[in-house]
Amino acid sequence: MTDLRDLYQQIIIDHSKNPRNFRVLSDTAHHKEGYNPLCGDQITLYLHIRNDVIEDVGFQGSGCAISTASASLMSEAIKGKTLAEATEIFDEFQKLITTGDTQPSSKLGKLAVLAGVKEFPMRVKCAILPWHTLKAVLTQDVDTVTTE
Ligand code: ZN
Repeated sequence: MTDLRDLYQQIIIDHSKNPRNFRVLSDTAHHKEGYNPLCGDQITLYLHIRNDVIEDVGFQGSGCAISTASASLMSEAIKGKTLAEATEIFDEFQKLITTGDTQPSSKLGKLAVLAGVKEFPMRVKCAILPWHTLKAVLTQDVDTVTTE
């Protein structure tokens, strides 16, 4: 178990130090800002969506290691997915980090490394921020998302 935790830790550190898809997507109609006032994490998420498929993902912002790693892992997980699939991954991820449960047919893949945050309620808000921002893009509700 210790080894698995170490591996998870390494993946989180890697993604927080070298976030994937950390860039602005120009000419995108779909972008949203998210903010977690408890920690000070902020993110702007950009999506290229065509025919209900997320063709490209980018994000910018500044935040703690957990929010950055979560955004980076999310960007990899949702790229190439349909909006319905991305919503499914959102639901599964939210369940994972609040209850620790995964489904046998989990679509989470590498996102499982964030399971440990469920023991730290403050960190759950950091990990979920990029996802709430994603959800806002998918549902087009509000201009700025906060975890509060
Ligand atoms: Zn944070």
